[in-house]
Amino acid sequence: MKVMDTLLKTHNKLEFFNPIHGFPDKVGTLSCLKFRNQELRFGSRRSNVNWGKNGSVKASSSALLELVQETKKENLEFDLPLYDPSNGLVVDLAVVGGGPAGLAVAQQVSEAGLAVVSIDPSPKLIWPNNYGVWVDEFEAMDLLDCLDTTWSSAIVYIDDQTTKELGRPYGRVNRKQLKSKMMQKCISNGVKFHQAKVVKVVHEEAKSLLICDDGVTIQAAVVLDATGFSRCLVQYDKPYNPGYQVAYGIVAEVEEHPFDVNKMIFMDWRDSHLNGNTELKERNSKIPTFLYAMPFSSDRIFLEETSLVARPGLAMGDIQERMVARLRHLGIKVKSIEEDERCVIPMGGPLPVLPQRVVGIGGTAGMVHPSTGYMVARTLAAAPVVANAIVQYLGGSKKGALGNELSAEVWKDLWPIERRRQREFFCFGMDILLKLDLPGTRRFFSAFFDLEPRYWHGFLSSRLFLPELFFFGLSLFSNASNTSRIEIMAKGTVPLVNMVNNLIKDRE
Ligand SMILES: Cc1cc2nc3c(=O)[nH]c(=O)nc-3n(C[C@H](O)[C@H](O)[C@H](O)COP(=O)(O)OP(=O)(O)OC[C@H]3O[C@@H](n4cnc5c(N)ncnc54)[C@H](O)[C@@H]3O)c2cc1C
Repeated sequence: MKVMDTLLKTHNKLEFFNPIHGFPDKVGTLSCLKFRNQELRFGSRRSNVNWGKNGSVKASSSALLELVQETKKENLEFDLPLYDPSNGLVVDLAVVGGGPAGLAVAQQVSEAGLAVVSIDPSPKLIWPNNYGVWVDEFEAMDLLDCLDTTWSSAIVYIDDQTTKELGRPYGRVNRKQLKSKMMQKCISNGVKFHQAKVVKVVHEEAKSLLICDDGVTIQAAVVLDATGFSRCLVQYDKPYNPGYQVAYGIVAEVEEHPFDVNKMIFMDWRDSHLNGNTELKERNSKIPTFLYAMPFSSDRIFLEETSLVARPGLAMGDIQERMVARLRHLGIKVKSIEEDERCVIPMGGPLPVLPQRVVGIGGTAGMVHPSTGYMVARTLAAAPVVANAIVQYLGGSKKGALGNELSAEVWKDLWPIERRRQREFFCFGMDILLKLDLPGTRRFFSAFFDLEPRYWHGFLSSRLFLPELFFFGLSLFSNASNTSRIEIMAKGTVPLVNMVNNLIKDRE
């Protein structure tokens, strides 16, 4: 057992459940497993893990975890207009999943006067994830009122000697405000809510029947799957082989921290906190993790130790151990933890079958950025595209298409060829990142953040398309050090060939 410092409250060991290793093989085959992993991500900590009792996990992280307060599940105070199953009507759109993606589309389709039902097991629950976005992304959607904290710039620590200041404001999403705003609009537009899980869909020629776990059947002309990474209804026909971003985050009250409260820490790749632990340092050198931090004040901060992408994903216990070592080194003494999050984001991998009868958006529709794991801003920006297509084909100028034909049109608008090519390029980026160790990762990001802002902003915010992405690639290559160029050529050749093959295969 290691020497305890003030960070460590008890000497308890705990049994740790490793949710990641082996995960890729299981995902996508059995829906019950999908749901199990969803729970691991979003909570139910205490029911899955024996916190602080018996077992064999690193004592160093157990004390930190002991500080996590019992999760308070906060609900929005709305009187929800409920769907009435007895009327047997066929609604225009049934949205399965009330996350940011689903609510955004429900809101916009109902605004056009169409009948919409939103189905979610916890429709009033405030979303559990801590979302971070670039302020310009939310500004472009007139959502600045949905950020609770903003920072004028972001810092990247490449190593102990090199720091980059990114002059691009960053914000933390006010989940309560964003969800309230969307729900209010949905309610005033006449959206009805049904509290249940959808377990099955049956398609007829012009409508689909959604069967819920409470026995209710909802009939709809169009079904939108917005169930996040649980991919409830959308079908995939290729082996599901994503990379995984894994992170452990806490919103903590601390005695003090060393960061400037005006700047968020986008990435801290320093590893001097591991100097006293050769084994951990070596592990981190092979598959590095970085600190992502949002300082709210001098004694309140969000801290997240993150593995950008790995296949299979890093074990949560490993990440927590690295986090504890880092916080100790930075002199951050955690007094209490308001909330914690376990983040497991599948990145890259195949797109769903295009087209298919059920339409999708968000995590379920392959929309997560394959090189960064970000998605909220991109999904909210794509919601009007999906909504418009549904409105046009159901009740607007293009009325007439039904069933499969209508869904095909919606998919075409969500994943047009230029977006598919863009995603292919981002997957190429992910494939390179998967191969980089800590020194390689540092060289990569050193060159990346030295690019002209339009390139790195555009890449991170999915605003660059082919052929601009090739110029981005060339610019990155010419910015890179000689070592980095050799590395990119050595490690990037196979992914490059794969990307070119996929681009050639995927035609309109
Ligand atoms: C911990 C974490 C942190 C993240 N942080 C960021 C970030 O900072 N920035 C960013 O851009 N992205 C982030 N992401 C990635 C991504 O933006 C989020 O996962 C986002 O919540 C996805 O939105 P969604 O609406 O597609 O799915 P979700 O938010 O997962 O919502 C899906 C909804 O569907 C419901 N559902 C599931 N199955 C069923 C069913 N069978 N029937 C009915 N309802 C069902 C769920 O209860 C849930 O309410 C993060 C992801 C995680 C996991």
